[in-house]
Amino acid sequence: MTKISRIQVNLVNRSYPIYIGNNLFSSFEKLIQNFSKYSKVIIISDNNVKKSINDFFFTLKKKLNKNIITFCLPPGEKSKSFKYLELLCEKILEKRIDRKTLLICVGGGVIGDLVGLTASILLRGIDFVQIPTTLLSQVDSSVGGKTAINSKFGKNLIGTFYQPKAVLISLNTLKSLPYRQIISGYAEILKYSLIKDNTFFFWLKKNGHKIISLDKTSLIYAIKKSCKIKSQIVSEDEKEKGIREILNLGHTFGHAIESQTGFSKKILHGEAVFIGMFLAIKFSVFLGFGKKKMVESYENHMKHLKIPFRLSDYNLKFSSKEFIKHLRFDKKINNNKLKFILLEQYGKTLSYTLNNEKLLVKFLEKNLE
Ligand code: NAD
Repeated sequence: MTKISRIQVNLVNRSYPIYIGNNLFSSFEKLIQNFSKYSKVIIISDNNVKKSINDFFFTLKKKLNKNIITFCLPPGEKSKSFKYLELLCEKILEKRIDRKTLLICVGGGVIGDLVGLTASILLRGIDFVQIPTTLLSQVDSSVGGKTAINSKFGKNLIGTFYQPKAVLISLNTLKSLPYRQIISGYAEILKYSLIKDNTFFFWLKKNGHKIISLDKTSLIYAIKKSCKIKSQIVSEDEKEKGIREILNLGHTFGHAIESQTGFSKKILHGEAVFIGMFLAIKFSVFLGFGKKKMVESYENHMKHLKIPFRLSDYNLKFSSKEFIKHLRFDKKINNNKLKFILLEQYGKTLSYTLNNEKLLVKFLEKNLE
């Protein structure tokens, strides 16, 4: 039997556990005892996940030992839309659900965000459990209760805060994950170290290569560390009125890149975040908040792991005007002023409201490379 770790997200009556293990099924009997109280269990996934981890699905259904309904949606960002939200709601309602129905999402951040939103609005809220199957969703999107779909005006602009009942992270689901998706998840792991834990950053400098090659011991350590940092922040500030905003390091720039490329496969979320974090670090230095060696240290780490972190690495080119247009659709905009999470040093963030847009234009003209 493999060891399962448990981290608690503390949110009074919305608290929930995150279980992390190499193979969750080894302790699944205990974990699913709670599921027996539900009248119906509906598993929602995407076609790609279902095909890639078919064995996992088979065992999950067998272990749940209930009459399970399964829905699979098309993979990819396009499913985070009104069209698929409506389709999913209607399909679930067709099954004559009641408030004691449980939704289980098995998949990456796309499925997690969509199912979370669906659970939050169906019958004014039913329970859901996250089984994240990408590295990104295991360390980030499955924890914290942000649910969303996209709008033509930008990413994640329509959504709710709605916490899952539990998050079940099974490392063995990552075996079939394409390398690009693993790298994409590493972006969020790196982000936690940069915003909150300098020692973790030094650990990543030494062990990052083990994570992206899916070494189990290092992965468990990094996933636990990331989930711990995220759950502490979320426990302090569930609805992003304060400290939670630091989780957006690199995401304001990153979202502009994703939006400009139409949320397409041209650039994955984490890949955009790598570029976004690089820009945020450089912007911190440009504005005089951080030391230049932060830029070098980030560059060295990326080069050491052979991770692309510049727009040109993805053959992308934007004018500052285009870029700012996309930045303006970010949720973090306040009184028409752009807000950025910057770094004073590794492990120490700074929330910066831009009062003089000319500064940003000057910065982007030199650094959009
Ligand atoms: P994703 O859900 O699109 O998954 C990536 C791809 O991997 C998909 O094609 C999927 O089918 C496939 N896949 C998933 N698991 C697999 C597996 N085990 N084996 C093989 N293939 C597998 O993308 P993602 O990177 O997981 O998530 C990105 C989304 O998460 C974005 O929409 C982003 O906005 C959102 N997000 C949300 C939060 C939040 O707090 N809610 C945080 C970060 C990101």
